[in-house]
Amino acid sequence: MVRKMGVYAVLAYVIYGLFFYWYLFYFADTKLPFEYQGSKADPATFLNGRELMLSEEYSKIRNLLFFLSTPFEWLFYFVILLFGFSRAFKRWSESSSKYKLLQTAIYLIWLSFFAYVATFPLSYISYSLSKTYHISTQTFPSWMKDELIDFWINYGTWLIIVPVIYWLMKKSSKRWWFYAWLLSIPFTLFMMFLQPVVIDPLYNNFYPLKNKELETKILTMADKAHIPAKHVFEVNMAEKTNSMNAYVTGIGSNARIVLWDTTLNKLSDRQILFIMAHEMCHYVEKHIYFGIAGYLLLSLLGLYLTNRIMDWAIKRWGTELKIPEKKDLRSLPLFLMIISFLLFAVSPLTNLASRYEESRADNYAIHMTKDPEAAIISFQKLTKSGLSQVNPPLLVKIFRYDHPTMLDRISMLEEYEIQHRNQIK
Ligand SMILES: [Zn+2]
Repeated sequence: MVRKMGVYAVLAYVIYGLFFYWYLFYFADTKLPFEYQGSKADPATFLNGRELMLSEEYSKIRNLLFFLSTPFEWLFYFVILLFGFSRAFKRWSESSSKYKLLQTAIYLIWLSFFAYVATFPLSYISYSLSKTYHISTQTFPSWMKDELIDFWINYGTWLIIVPVIYWLMKKSSKRWWFYAWLLSIPFTLFMMFLQPVVIDPLYNNFYPLKNKELETKILTMADKAHIPAKHVFEVNMAEKTNSMNAYVTGIGSNARIVLWDTTLNKLSDRQILFIMAHEMCHYVEKHIYFGIAGYLLLSLLGLYLTNRIMDWAIKRWGTELKIPEKKDLRSLPLFLMIISFLLFAVSPLTNLASRYEESRADNYAIHMTKDPEAAIISFQKLTKSGLSQVNPPLLVKIFRYDHPTMLDRISMLEEYEIQHRNQIK
């Protein structure tokens, strides 16, 4: 039975992978609708032939890797349970120490280590792909260092969360998910508060803007929106990537706007001001807080469902999955598998909400800067530097795009430009 279940799972994964390969490489049509051809959103007007070809090719492979990675996690956790790895990790942890907490720490090390090794090929392919296409400029040692930081931060986070969850399960098998959710509120807020000052600096350096002339322009604009100067940062990304970005992070006194130095180096001042105005909208409209509220709401539902699914799966498949009961640490891969699945399932909804905020930010920015020419060029350069698709396939948009497509974003700006031109006349 166990072997059969393993074969079915691998088979399902392969069929799923082949489906997406066919969908992305043969079925999906990324050609622009007729009415957009020749417009400023048409990549043929701002990319050369080689860039056009590369961006299609690169995006297709990237999209495939995206769709392969998450279900691969589910397959991994399933195999870990089915073939008794989880049981073995628990046995090894019990023979190494008699202290419960230390046992959990050892179990987690084994699980994290195996998960890392299993997913390493996909991460490495992803890294070397972006290096081949000259997006990433990061050396292997530097990439590996980031990977190790990721590993230990994840490990540390789970080391805090897992003992609490299993302790709650022991206390109340029926209501642990609700208590876990209550505790997750202060924990999430605390992590969001620490993120920009404790976690992010482990990867990169953050400092005030280097170009003082530009800084004055940016801070003057920020001042209009009542954003204090000490909340605007530059980060050194040029040693890692050619692509451009800017974002808002942190909460309370740690809220900040961060501009990648690549953005500052590659765009003109007018273009940078448009990007900055976009980020200011996120800051002023407090999109992070809406994000946290939405996340907490969904996680209440998610934890409830996790509990129900765990009960059902253990009752039905407990013997095959080698999980005697929910509160046994051996059920952790099942817990992680369900969480990963629910996150993937809800991503179309969270992406939709994010795309709404992003288009608000674009609107805010263009009304603030009133400079559609610079705005359009900044988006064209963004497309070019990341070799991104202007008009991605529908499933890619639904599952992957937390920003509107460049077709939508540039068309909106072009429309503004046309209206504005008519007003002047
Ligand atoms: Zn944004």
